[in-house]
Amino acid sequence: MSAALKTDAVVGVVGAGTMGAGIAQVAAAAGHPVLLTDAAKGAVEKAVTGIGAALDRRVKSGKLDAEARDAILGRIAPAANLKALAGAALVIEAVAEDLSVKRKLLADLEKAVSVTTLLASNTSSLSITALAGALRHTGRVVGMHFFNPVPAMALVEVVSGLATAPEAAEQIAATAKAWGKTPIHVRSSTGFVVNRIARPFYGEALRLLKESAADPATIDAVLRDGGGFAMGPFQVMDLVGIDVGLAVSRTFYEATYGEPRFRPSPIQEEMVAAGLLGRKSGRGFYDYAQDAVLPEPATAPHAPAPTRLRVEGEPGPAATLVELAEERGIEIERDSHGAGHLVLPGATLALSDGRPATLRAADEGLDNLVLFDLAGDYRLATRLAVAPADQAEDAALTAAVGLFEALGKAVSVVDDPPGLIVMRTVAMLANEAFEVVEGRVAAPEDVDTAMRLGVRYPRGPLAWAHEVGLARLVRTLDNLRAVTGEERYRAALLLRRKSIMD
Ligand code: NAD
Repeated sequence: MSAALKTDAVVGVVGAGTMGAGIAQVAAAAGHPVLLTDAAKGAVEKAVTGIGAALDRRVKSGKLDAEARDAILGRIAPAANLKALAGAALVIEAVAEDLSVKRKLLADLEKAVSVTTLLASNTSSLSITALAGALRHTGRVVGMHFFNPVPAMALVEVVSGLATAPEAAEQIAATAKAWGKTPIHVRSSTGFVVNRIARPFYGEALRLLKESAADPATIDAVLRDGGGFAMGPFQVMDLVGIDVGLAVSRTFYEATYGEPRFRPSPIQEEMVAAGLLGRKSGRGFYDYAQDAVLPEPATAPHAPAPTRLRVEGEPGPAATLVELAEERGIEIERDSHGAGHLVLPGATLALSDGRPATLRAADEGLDNLVLFDLAGDYRLATRLAVAPADQAEDAALTAAVGLFEALGKAVSVVDDPPGLIVMRTVAMLANEAFEVVEGRVAAPEDVDTAMRLGVRYPRGPLAWAHEVGLARLVRTLDNLRAVTGEERYRAALLLRRKSIMD
């Protein structure tokens, strides 16, 4: 493994916007002299003022002492132009996300610096192979993808293009580590790891909305309070900007020659056309007007708790629900035969397997079927989605709500979408993670680290997949594909293969 750059090595940062300023701060905090430059007048001064204010906040909260703040600021100097970066051991560019702008910048940089200077790009979507294409010495071009806000986010995707020298990638990774970050190695491909695996988090939420399964507030609440995600997908889309999200979706779709998993949603298109861009325009999936009332997620009315629950066969991931019921004093009767259903008087409850309740009830001859959703952790979840089959009596839903309420969960009744909400999202996140591993874009352990640190998922998607059971996931995806007739739900070959031995 190559060693990290020594702390006396000069680090150049080109582009003093949101990311460049953060990168300069982190490099200076690690002890490097930093030269910061930007094409726009006043941008560097503004960035340095911003870094000063950020460090002041750390001093005020007792996380940094005043001397350390002064030392960090003292190590950041403006550079008038690229020539001033001649002595840098590493230059990181964080200029506009535009292939031609970045290619020209890298070509100009190559003329300004020595042949041994490492050239890193903070691009979040452009091909590192294509960026290096403009240079004579291509082996030293490496992606160094930080996350926003740079000082707070631990992950760095270290991206290698076809020409990147392994030693260059190793040295960037070792340097990121020395800066207190957690680097993962990524082979350059569309969206790298985090942005790619996260696509279904938004894609499936938009599909659920299109299917009228539930409203955004309910889908968000189920993924947050049931799935364990820090924010719901519609909240994130509003925060990032729906126009930005649509542009990213289009990039993925085009770069993969129309891969159905990445197809943009007409809902995004329509909202952008209407100027509903999210927080920045005052309205997106939610209204941000001062007097706006936050919509409440759909929550079923109170229902009485059951006194008995029969467990037919092996309940799989729902075993924790049975434990909880037992702890709440509900009498458990176990039947060693059966498909893992939870049976209450007048209701059969089953974990979603990708079929809508109504179709599954017909397949299995179960009239009073109510499906329930997966949770990140059934013990911690405070909300669960359920879907009664159209054939079910009203009393079946009441019985299901009563059970989950007794276990401390609010219940959101949704309109029978295939795979419900958390199960469908997790199945697709895990599937994308298997696609990434299958394509050797990143190693399995790095994939999980990336999603926990880069987007703060409660679990890595691969670890989650193993907990749910690979065979169960494949079955869920196969059912989703069968009932929707959509290729986007085809299981990754590697997932299917691994599921045999799981
Ligand atoms: P930004 O608009 O805040 O800053 C970009 C800066 O680059 C501006 O100050 C601009 O004047 C300067 N610039 C543009 N062209 C230049 C050139 N040719 N030479 C010198 N300076 C130039 O943008 P940002 O959000 O900091 O993003 C920068 C890069 O980081 C992009 O590639 C982006 O995709 C990537 N990125 C952004 C985020 C994020 O959340 N903002 C996260 C990860 C990666």
